[in-house]
Amino acid sequence: MSDITYQDVISQIKDKLDIVDVVSKHVILKKSGGNYWGLCPFHNEKTPSFSVNPSKQIYKCFGCGEGGDALSFLMKINHQSFGEVIKEQAEIFGIPLPSNFQKSQESQGVKQQVLEAMKAASEFYTRNLLLDKTSNGYQYIKKRGFDDAVITRYKLGLAPNSYESLQNHLKKDFSMEILEKAGLVIKRETNNSYIDRFKNRLMISIFDEKGNVVAFGARAIEDGQSPKYLNSSETIAYNKSHILYGLYHAQDAIKKEDAVIIMEGYFDVISAQVNGVENCVGACGTALTESHVKLISRYSPSRKIYLAFDTDSAGQKATERGAEVIKEAFIGLGNIKQFDENYTSMNNDKYACEIRVVVPADGKDPDEFIKEHGAQEYKKYIQNAPLLLDYQINKILRQKTADMSPIEKSNIVKQVIPYLDEINNNIIKDEYIKIVAAKLEIEEQALRKELRKSLPQYTKKEIIAAPSVNKTLNISEKAQKNLLSLYLINESVYSIQSLNTILKNIHYTNEKLIIVKDTIDKLSLTVNNVKELIDALYTAFAENNEIKELITDLIYLSDSFKGLSEKDFKTVINENIETINTYKLKEEQSHLRSMYKKVNDDELQAIEYQMQLREKIKNKLRTGDN
Ligand SMILES: [Zn+2]
Repeated sequence: MSDITYQDVISQIKDKLDIVDVVSKHVILKKSGGNYWGLCPFHNEKTPSFSVNPSKQIYKCFGCGEGGDALSFLMKINHQSFGEVIKEQAEIFGIPLPSNFQKSQESQGVKQQVLEAMKAASEFYTRNLLLDKTSNGYQYIKKRGFDDAVITRYKLGLAPNSYESLQNHLKKDFSMEILEKAGLVIKRETNNSYIDRFKNRLMISIFDEKGNVVAFGARAIEDGQSPKYLNSSETIAYNKSHILYGLYHAQDAIKKEDAVIIMEGYFDVISAQVNGVENCVGACGTALTESHVKLISRYSPSRKIYLAFDTDSAGQKATERGAEVIKEAFIGLGNIKQFDENYTSMNNDKYACEIRVVVPADGKDPDEFIKEHGAQEYKKYIQNAPLLLDYQINKILRQKTADMSPIEKSNIVKQVIPYLDEINNNIIKDEYIKIVAAKLEIEEQALRKELRKSLPQYTKKEIIAAPSVNKTLNISEKAQKNLLSLYLINESVYSIQSLNTILKNIHYTNEKLIIVKDTIDKLSLTVNNVKELIDALYTAFAENNEIKELITDLIYLSDSFKGLSEKDFKTVINENIETINTYKLKEEQSHLRSMYKKVNDDELQAIEYQMQLREKIKNKLRTGDN
């Protein structure tokens, strides 16, 4: 039995979690000053009002008010309870749970079993592939130029030509329900029996970022076998828009190169990786989604993305579509790089992203190209890959022939205008107008006129108004909130006790502020510093969203008091105290006035109220209000 306490587990987890890392899995963040900004995942917006503060390890949306620490974010985004988040994170970090910790939900156990079944299946397929080197599957791998080390590293395998082999192998360790939930077997409709989902296919294990096998891609190995690729369906452990093929093996290289190459097929990725182009991933049978883009953004801070799809027309369409998805994902986070200015690029982080298109001259896919010309040659194409805009405009301009009619030329102009329209920098736009006009042998002025004529391509999407955070607080409560935030200043010269002395006459009137203040008082007896106080506050209100938002607000507010001189600090405190007192006085006056009006029939009582009111007004004059 471990004697670790629940609070110990929580603090250990919090020490290991980094808010930027946690949030980046779901939000594309861009650094600005000391904070990070992105589009809020909890309300619909097109300009970023969601901020992450790495030094305080908290996040806050200035649009919808949502805010909290890393654990709050995980709860909210994964729709989990506090206990579920703690259990999951403790497992990830290998932190033992206290013996009295509640048994977790059933579904956690199921996911774990599904992952174990997938692992066992993957090992079974790999063993089977290595067993018979004359099999179609093994010969296919050999023809692709891969050896046994590649098979082991990428857990390639072979599904036997039978509907029962896998289940017979796994059923001693797993229930049929688990195998079905893992997508490894399919229930027959006629009776209660099952068939293996994959039969007589080359198996490609698909890993999540942590290296768990979560799905399989299964390729046909015989002529006429259909479909060519059969993929796992989505399961409790596999959400295809959150998984990119090869990311597990590529993550370090993507970080190192600060760039990622997106390819089409499994074997493009494997071939590139084993030949030294390690920072590549594959969309593999599914269209690129915004979640995919978010996933890779975490590993490349400057978000340099190379699209290396096949050069056939399907591949070109995938390039256009992929580029749109990437642009959509970065809306509001700044400009997309549209011009190569080699001589001034000092700051890597000035663009929201940089999209380039890799197009080897002879129109081969990455796997074919590398096999024929080698990885070094391919790397040259990556180094010289044009920016998306250049690629798109050049593709259109290539239609130009020597003897084009004016109609044909104007047709090209029509195609190129939407791309020119997209350029936000006027100087860059001007450069492109010159290039395009020269290429097409037309007057620049004519092209400019056509450009002006074109209607804006995109109408501005409506921004959904978010509720205001401070909507319910009156001026006195806002001042109370300012004062309460003083307790959360990091490295403050004032202890909780000394603040209590300075602020002893403050009576909090807002229910939530009272709750937080009471809790701070209680916790002050057990914590050693502000960081511990904040951690303990978040834990105390783990399941109370409104209070968590308030705590986050308070932490942000506390930041504005940091670094003030003692004199300024006192001035700010006094201003807030005065606001509260003035407000209170006004409230009392209006209360007395209304009482006075009501008691006209009782003269004595009325005179008493009148006297009180006079006293108050005199008081007010003395404090210099008005
Ligand atoms: Zn929001």
